Amino acid sequence: MNGKLYGVGLGPGDPSLMTVRAVEVIAEADVVAYHSARHKRSIARSIAERHLRADHIEEPLVYPVTTETTDHPGGYRGAMEDFYAEASARLAAHLDAGRTVAVLAEGDPLFYGSYMHMHKRLADRYDTEVIPGVTSVSAAAARLGAPLVEGEEVLTILPGTLPEEELAARLASTDAAVVMKLGRTFPKVRGAFERSGKLSRARYVERASMSQERVADLADVDAASVPYFSVAVLPSQVDAERPVRGGEVTVVGTGPAGPLWLTPESRGALADADDVVGYTTYLDRVPVRPGQRRHGSDNRVESERAEYALELARRGRRVAVVSGGDPGVFAMATAVLEVASQPEYHGVPVRVLPGVTAANAAAAKAGAPLGHDYATISLSDRLKPWEVIEERLRAAASADLVLALYNPGSRSRTWQVGKARDVLLEYRAPHTPVVVARDVGGPGERVSIVRLGELDPAVVDMRTVLLVGSSLTVAVRRGDGEEIVWTPRRYPEV
Ligand code: SAH
Repeated sequence: MNGKLYGVGLGPGDPSLMTVRAVEVIAEADVVAYHSARHKRSIARSIAERHLRADHIEEPLVYPVTTETTDHPGGYRGAMEDFYAEASARLAAHLDAGRTVAVLAEGDPLFYGSYMHMHKRLADRYDTEVIPGVTSVSAAAARLGAPLVEGEEVLTILPGTLPEEELAARLASTDAAVVMKLGRTFPKVRGAFERSGKLSRARYVERASMSQERVADLADVDAASVPYFSVAVLPSQVDAERPVRGGEVTVVGTGPAGPLWLTPESRGALADADDVVGYTTYLDRVPVRPGQRRHGSDNRVESERAEYALELARRGRRVAVVSGGDPGVFAMATAVLEVASQPEYHGVPVRVLPGVTAANAAAAKAGAPLGHDYATISLSDRLKPWEVIEERLRAAASADLVLALYNPGSRSRTWQVGKARDVLLEYRAPHTPVVVARDVGGPGERVSIVRLGELDPAVVDMRTVLLVGSSLTVAVRRGDGEEIVWTPRRYPEV
């Protein structure tokens, strides 16, 4: 009978953090295998050392390379591939001979561990069991003695080998984080914490639970001293003292709907704010952070809302002003900057963060109607006279631009769409495709494609955006029955 394969998690370093089951399995095993770098002691073996016996067959699996330089024809990947094939064949020979094999793994075997390469090659052929272990994440958090994540907080685990930009974006949009695989990656990881504005709360744990353990504030760590066995930790922010940074206003766009279209930067700015100000509908889309104050209002009083936000910021609060979509498209950014241009608010820092605007989201749902030049026009005559709107519709239509029409109508504004259609029909054929997109990305999403000649004003409401094609825009029915719309990037004459 074949032997059994075990992947044995040994915990973070302190042998007393091995599980009872890990000890049992090692006691039962005929063969004890462990990975190590060339010329280096195996950390896994040293954790389990007191449980190893003279009659254990030891099977060291020595990596041919640990950095990405090798003369293997297949490069680093090729060298590793050969190594895993050879190592798993050696373990398979023991298993075929009926010997029980325990592959030792520091921490948890399936958590960034070397064991999994053996597992993937052997588990479908041999009876296999994985013994979970305490990870360095838990060990580091325990050492810091502070909550890691609480309630609905999100913990993000990141390998420090990711590009700095990616790390910064992930850090900006999470509540708590652990960055693994430090060492040479440290300067980049530190840079990412700094860029995400979270460096002041970041901690550092080196060799958690091992003999040379060290705990520090990440900002104080000398990059030259950082070993691979160390982690950066951003603990829970629930009771965290907020760094004193002075007041500011950040104008944030939540995207058309839902968390999928909220950028990491915007998510981070919302979490970071002391106060969130906005139209109640948009505020409801913002995840609640304990301790944050919310100031909802109705859709109309934009300048008062802007003034209120700037006033809070002037008194030292960090304020996020929320708009749907992109905050610069028929939304709060202008109102805030208008008020901020008054002398009494000159000193208050204001930032605008971009968001996915409704036209772009709607276009993507329908295909690519905005693939060529287009104009964006609001049909609301609340803030500009209808004559101006009509003039712009004519100008854009005669220039053969695709049109994105925002604010096409509401319960009280019902005639504008019909009027706009009639104006456009003076320039465009009745069969011109029109995308009618309602609540894109939200629970009430409805995207339909109609013809300009048949555009019925009753189909629009406050949550609708219209995309009207140019003379070149086409609607095509695909094999699956779906109709898609696109505008070519090339004019026929070119
Ligand atoms: N700043 C927003 C636009 C605010 S004006 C943005 O960039 O999208 C409000 C208009 O935006 C609505 O009348 C509608 O035309 C459009 N809109 C906003 N969200 C939408 C969505 N999810 N689906 C369709 N249209 C939307």
